[in-house]
Amino acid sequence: MENTVNTKKKYDVIIVGAGPGGIFSAYELVKNNKNLKIAIFESGHPLEKRRCPIDGDKVKSCVHCKPCAIMDGFGGAGAFSDGKYNITNQFGGSLHEYIGKKEAIDLMRYVDEINMKNGGEGCKLYSTADSEIKQLCIKNKLHLLDAMVRHLGTDRNYVVLGNLYDYLSKYVDFYFLTPVLKLEKDENGFTVKTEKGEYQSKYCIVSVGRSGSKWMETVCHELGIATKSNRVDIGVRVELPAEIFAHLTDKLYESKIVYRTEKYGDYVRTFCMNPNGVVVNENTNGIVTVNGHSYSDEKLHTENTNFALLVSKQFTEPFNDSNAYAENIAKLSNMLGGGVMVQRFGDLIRGRRSTPQRIKDSFLTPTLTATPGDLSLVIPKRILDGIIEMIYALDKIAPGTANDDTLLYGVEVKFYNMQVEIDDNLETCHKGLYVIGDGSGVTHSLSHASASGVFVARRIIEKT
Ligand SMILES: Cc1cc2nc3c(=O)[nH]c(=O)nc-3n(C[C@H](O)[C@H](O)[C@H](O)COP(=O)(O)OP(=O)(O)OC[C@H]3O[C@@H](n4cnc5c(N)ncnc54)[C@H](O)[C@@H]3O)c2cc1C
Repeated sequence: MENTVNTKKKYDVIIVGAGPGGIFSAYELVKNNKNLKIAIFESGHPLEKRRCPIDGDKVKSCVHCKPCAIMDGFGGAGAFSDGKYNITNQFGGSLHEYIGKKEAIDLMRYVDEINMKNGGEGCKLYSTADSEIKQLCIKNKLHLLDAMVRHLGTDRNYVVLGNLYDYLSKYVDFYFLTPVLKLEKDENGFTVKTEKGEYQSKYCIVSVGRSGSKWMETVCHELGIATKSNRVDIGVRVELPAEIFAHLTDKLYESKIVYRTEKYGDYVRTFCMNPNGVVVNENTNGIVTVNGHSYSDEKLHTENTNFALLVSKQFTEPFNDSNAYAENIAKLSNMLGGGVMVQRFGDLIRGRRSTPQRIKDSFLTPTLTATPGDLSLVIPKRILDGIIEMIYALDKIAPGTANDDTLLYGVEVKFYNMQVEIDDNLETCHKGLYVIGDGSGVTHSLSHASASGVFVARRIIEKT
């Protein structure tokens, strides 16, 4: 019989997941102690092998690859993202509630410095400070959240990741296409089990992001780590001519604007704004939703700007699975549209579906091939009413937002992982086991996930 105990390869630190959380943990560990034995296990491919087969021509919609090239692999869900690093405690996660506001901001700035040194230099840092737009928003019952945002762009973000990999691969053992199947606690620390073998370490950092949510749930259950349900954000991605938002995006790049609806008192907010960008499919556990990004290279710019409009929902009693609620809404859109659905705003308010001809006749060219349809058959009334109200509110600060040809893609869902019980060190009840990034339910952005990685690396360095 195989003696698994003797065949276990030993490390000082094992990191599960090579997204921003995992990468920045490794970076900080290596920077402070090059003698540490570190391994990173990753379900997906190395960066250069990550290719989504959707080409808009032969492959038009998601074919459910495993692993998913968009969500899994070196760089995590952030690899083909717009690379917007928001330096703020106002959104992107609640890291500051664990480690304090100042430390959270300092760490986000530190991550920004590393990105700049690794290929991001020259990318613009936008800020909402002293913005006239803030005034304009308040006059129209809209609230602009404070942030600084470094926009790397999808192309530059890729370069930065490539450089970080080149640096890390000198000191870290990478195991790609190696999902961790099981995580166990033993007298020497932690053992991770994979199809390729078992590996042991004194410290373990789990940073499995959104795509690892189901696995994370199992681990918490098996190791007796408490969890609690998180909120979910449901809405649409809006696409319109870039000129309509140019006065905001030129100054701020990304503006996070919140609106309280008059009808229900619900909050609707803008999210992930992509000037001159493209709308894309996103696949979460086989469910196709919509997202967006843009390139910093002007040659790759489109004539459109896109952003999400989202409403948060959290269920408690007797039903508490907020994610399942949103999953079912997204499944409904997949059922009716075969994937993502698109509708002209003018068609939505006239109570009719969009058709390929109506989309073709518009003055706006969609950047994503989606099925023309009727979002009112998919999105619950309360949420859709809120989105429509906000579109009219935005029309006051960016006239043209409520034009008939404005496109709404649905559904956009921001799933949040359940919140894993961790302490102020981001450590679980098992000493030496840290859960960080989006997988912890604490962060939901590149900057917060990366900052959480640096934070735990420093805690481990203090102990070694
Ligand atoms: C299209 C898109 C655009 C986005 N744009 C932005 C943006 O502009 N700005 C922003 O702030 N945020 C953006 N986000 C969100 C951002 O990418 C995430 O918040 C961030 O990547 C979270 O980092 P993470 O390290 O926690 O997790 P992830 O990046 O999700 O990485 C987790 C990694 O763990 C791996 N993994 C999962 N389970 C296992 C397992 N069992 N064993 C081994 N490996 C495993 C996964 O394959 C994955 O590579 C975007 C997301 C998407 C999908």
